[in-house]
Amino acid sequence: MPATIIDGKKIAREIEAELIGRISDLSKNGVVPCLAVVIVGDDPASHVYVGAKERACERLGIRSVRVDVASDAEYEEVASTVRGLNEDPGINGVLVQSPLPSGMDEISITDLIDPQKDVDGFHAQNLGRLVQGDVSGLLPCTPAGVMRMLESTNLDIRGKRAIVIGRSRIVGMPQSILLAQRGVDATVTIAHSRTSDMADLCRSADLIVAAVGRPNMITADWIKPGATVIDVGVNRVNDDSEKGYYLSGDVHPDVREVAGAVSPVPGGVGPMTIAMLMSNTVRATEMQQ
Ligand code: NAP
Repeated sequence: MPATIIDGKKIAREIEAELIGRISDLSKNGVVPCLAVVIVGDDPASHVYVGAKERACERLGIRSVRVDVASDAEYEEVASTVRGLNEDPGINGVLVQSPLPSGMDEISITDLIDPQKDVDGFHAQNLGRLVQGDVSGLLPCTPAGVMRMLESTNLDIRGKRAIVIGRSRIVGMPQSILLAQRGVDATVTIAHSRTSDMADLCRSADLIVAAVGRPNMITADWIKPGATVIDVGVNRVNDDSEKGYYLSGDVHPDVREVAGAVSPVPGGVGPMTIAMLMSNTVRATEMQQ
């Protein structure tokens, strides 16, 4: 039987519907959440992502402010932009769109964001809380979105084997912590580019979260029958369509023949990431009142 498709778009719409009530409660006190997005340079993919974030704000009645900074700006210009947004009481959430121009220290810029306005959840203080087992604050959007997708499948992952492929600061590492936290209780293996027995590890897993950035890397022969597979990867693969590319995940489409449940690309983790960003913006606004 082909795998169930985990519809990220649908779950994201449900999250947005929940948020509308909270946004309306804030508005009774004269508060409209406001998200500021700083974009440095003209990376086309970044502009697509920022556009999607702005449209989500518009749908929900969240104000959005976009600050464009030239690609040749110095570190200090970006830093002072962030400090200005921190000090502005009308701004509730601040994020700096990744990637920054090469040579600009992304971690140090992130750590300038007021942790209470850090809606990406990447500030050391917010990531530190996560390591301490406190998941009540601003969590990184993509891993938090994956957790919501898993909740929707009703998969009981307690004591089960999960493998997270990728160990980045923004996806793989916080994802592994969220899966291993008390109450979720998966037994987590973190794989990366130096992992030698990847196919065997995957074949032993009840849950695979792929966050690598390599199109179709995870193939059907790596999958334990019935396993759940979450595809975080978003890869542009060139073709001769009008756009010149199509989007592929890290998971090969054939995996659907073996897995129990699979998230699609597009329409899986992507919309969930945006919904969790909206959720963090509302949460940050509530915490600041
Ligand atoms: P990243 O920082 O480049 O990290 C990629 C990770 O994959 C690294 O840990 C790397 O290992 C590992 N890796 C690379 N090649 C590998 C291989 N052959 N076998 C096993 N592991 C390998 O990327 P990221 O920011 O985490 O993003 C990962 C993917 O998710 C990308 O496609 C990105 O576009 C996508 N993404 C999607 C969303 C969304 O909302 N849908 C959000 C964020 C990211 P090393 O650590 O050893 O280098």
